[in-house]
Amino acid sequence: MRPGKMMRQVLGSIFKKPATILYPAAKLEMPDKFRGKLKYYAAACIGCKLCMKDCPTGAIIINKVGDKQFEAIIDLARCIYCAQCVDSCPKKALEATKDVELAQLDEKRLKITFTLNDPEGKVTEQT
Ligand code: SF4
Ligand code: SF4
Repeated sequence: MRPGKMMRQVLGSIFKKPATILYPAAKLEMPDKFRGKLKYYAAACIGCKLCMKDCPTGAIIINKVGDKQFEAIIDLARCIYCAQCVDSCPKKALEATKDVELAQLDEKRLKITFTLNDPEGKVTEQT
C-alpha cells in the first residue's frame, strides 16, 4: 500500500466509531433471533416432553409437579443454544432470550429449575 493511501486510512480511522464496546461497562446488544439463555412459561406447558425428546444434548428435563403443572430443569452448561426445543414446543412454552451473561466458576450453578413463579430461572450469584 502506498504511504499516502495508508495515511488517509489511518487518519480516517481516528474519527470512525470503534467496532468494539467497553464491555462490561457498556451493555451488550445482541442481534434479533440471537439464541441465548432459555425462558420457560410453565403456564403454557402441557408436559408433552417433545422438547426433551428433540434436545440433542439431553439438557432439558420436564417434571410434573402437580395437576397439569410442570417445571423445567435446564442444564445451561450442557445446552448448546440450538433452540431446537423452542421450535419443537407446540405451545410456545420455551423462548430463547438474548441473555448471554452466564459465566460461572461452578457449572452446577447452571443447572436451573424454571417454575411457574420463576420463568427466568435465576442463575444464583457466586458466593
Ligand atoms: S437449546 Fe438446544 S441444547 Fe439447549 S435445551 Fe434446547 S434443544 Fe437442548
Ligand atoms: S415441548 Fe413445550 S409443552 Fe411440551 S413439555 Fe416441552 S415445554 Fe412443555
